[in-house]
Amino acid sequence: MKAAALVEVRNLRKHYPVRGGVFGRQRDTVRAVEDVSFLLHAGETLGLVGESGCGKSTLGRTMMRLEEPTSGDVLFEGRNLASASAAELFTLRRDVQMIFQDPYSSLNPRITIGEAVREPLDIHRLGSAADRRARVDELFEAVGLSPTVQERYPHEFSGGQRQRVGIARGLALRPRVIVADEPVSALDVSVQGQVLNLLVQLQRDLGLTYLFISHDLSVVEYLSDRVAVMYLGRIVEIGKRTSIFAAPAHPYTRALLESVPIADPRKRRDRVPLQGETPSAVHPPSGCAFHPRCPLAVAVCRGEVPALESVRTDGDDGHLTACHRHDEI
Ligand code: SF4
Repeated sequence: MKAAALVEVRNLRKHYPVRGGVFGRQRDTVRAVEDVSFLLHAGETLGLVGESGCGKSTLGRTMMRLEEPTSGDVLFEGRNLASASAAELFTLRRDVQMIFQDPYSSLNPRITIGEAVREPLDIHRLGSAADRRARVDELFEAVGLSPTVQERYPHEFSGGQRQRVGIARGLALRPRVIVADEPVSALDVSVQGQVLNLLVQLQRDLGLTYLFISHDLSVVEYLSDRVAVMYLGRIVEIGKRTSIFAAPAHPYTRALLESVPIADPRKRRDRVPLQGETPSAVHPPSGCAFHPRCPLAVAVCRGEVPALESVRTDGDDGHLTACHRHDEI
């Protein structure tokens, strides 16, 4: 039996106006997120990957309403984050939290790390002062930091320790869903593994559901149950991690996987490097936006946007791809 969907993202769009001229009139539109739909199941990790500028961080921020959606829905147990009032959003944010890439800029340098972790509890007025102190101690222990360091300031800690503080702050309100935007990419490789292991352990202990945004395929492979691949504002492939990594059905996913460095020379593949730059989201190519870079492109690719369709004819395993020629791959 399939796990229930905890979050449903439906036809989400985020466009930004491009203004110019003396009167600042709108001249163009950046289509950062374009008609994105997917489900996030309770207790799973969905990895969201794509090159820099593909819209994956904007998608995470728009889901959280840190950016106003242009249109679409983000349903959490039937409540719509995308259209919630300020009061409803305040309540919904207890359940859905975000962890950011750069723990230094997401922590206020003028308040202690103990205050930073306690702040969400104060804002939501949860428990007595003693309850909040106890909760902060518990959170420090949960992320592997000693509660005795609470009086110190962010600059006194390493990047890995600061990200632990960021995670503790994100967990303060006991959320059920975490949107983690590149949470380890600002860290040294040596500490990335420790923070990833911490996220895995917290998910196990607390039953968390993650949307894990990363440009790093090896990190996504390590952590995810399912993977969504984004290209120029759209999801072009989504499915179980095992299916995506073993049998990618979209030429872009294949090119991304082929560009991952392999340390063992005996396992090195014949590389097919990804050609060209990601096109502009202001003037995306017609039809399939990947067609100028795709070795398999044919006439229909330039004229029609491919729909996300099941890779298997029985449609059973939830592996979907948006490619006119997927059954030939
Ligand atoms: Fe390539 Fe065409 Fe498939 Fe797009 S639809 S990925 S251009 S084959």
